[in-house]
Amino acid sequence: MSITTTGTASHAGTPISSASIATADSPVNSATLKTPVVLGIDIGGTNLRVGLVDQLGALVDSRRVSSQEALSGADPMGKLADYLDRYLAETLDDTYDLKAIAVGFPSVVDASRTTVIQTTFIPGLNNVNVPDRLSRFGVPVFIDRDVNMIIRYDAKRLGLQGARGVTFGCYVGTGIGCALAVDGNILVGLHGVAGELGHIYEATGIRCGCGLDGCSETMASGNALVRELEAHHPGAVIDDAFSEYGDEEFVDQWLEHLAWTFSTVINLLDPTTIIIGGGVTQMKDFPKARLEEKIKRMSRKPYPAEDLPIVYTIPGKYDGVIGAALCALEQL
Ligand SMILES: [Zn+2]
Repeated sequence: MSITTTGTASHAGTPISSASIATADSPVNSATLKTPVVLGIDIGGTNLRVGLVDQLGALVDSRRVSSQEALSGADPMGKLADYLDRYLAETLDDTYDLKAIAVGFPSVVDASRTTVIQTTFIPGLNNVNVPDRLSRFGVPVFIDRDVNMIIRYDAKRLGLQGARGVTFGCYVGTGIGCALAVDGNILVGLHGVAGELGHIYEATGIRCGCGLDGCSETMASGNALVRELEAHHPGAVIDDAFSEYGDEEFVDQWLEHLAWTFSTVINLLDPTTIIIGGGVTQMKDFPKARLEEKIKRMSRKPYPAEDLPIVYTIPGKYDGVIGAALCALEQL
């Protein structure tokens, strides 16, 4: 986050729409004046999204393919590179000038941000040096954890790029994604794994994908909500979890763990902005007020409990693509 813009986010309950970022209006093109663009890539469990992003952070082209289709087989990076070759051949032509490639991975990424160390759901995407594997494109290649790309996008749309203090981004999807920025810089950590909030030990007694019994993510995540709903109401639709069953004890316990997890970070770091996003928070009747009450109860009095700077963001499908491009733009 190289642009220095300070800003104070409004407090609880202010949804920020993806639409607040321009997605067109790139500079005038001609055959002799190409628009510089970054190729942003967001690798998700279901979909792989790619897009061209101009220097202002506007998405000028985008595409989605199935992650299975794009990354299956013994050499997923080779397959991805072939896909990108075809995509760029179709889109760059005389209009765009490729300046960099940036990829957000749902993975453990090393501290130097060159190697994907481990990816749970994509066999073969382990110990891969990504700039090496994408060297055929002849441009700089940047990588980061996917959630760090999302917080870059959120920081831009909230006017928090370069903001002083701690920005705490927490994204509740199938798991819990967490990103932290300190004085405008993404916190990386010694091994590159700062922000593993889903693996805070909360003694849940449930086996986590990481191998530990009791991580926060086993009780406070979309997957946990699906599991608990199925246990209490077999066959119920997850979209109805809050609207139909929001008053039940199992939902309250789920919220209790979410608040526990959030307040751990809030007490430790006293964030300047707390961004809450992710698909689960967009479900019908997501109980924001109850979540905030619980966070307040679990937070140190009088502060930070009395002044929780919470903002909610509405996730867009290409946030990770644009965020990846912003990661490249800040380093070019
Ligand atoms: Zn774990």
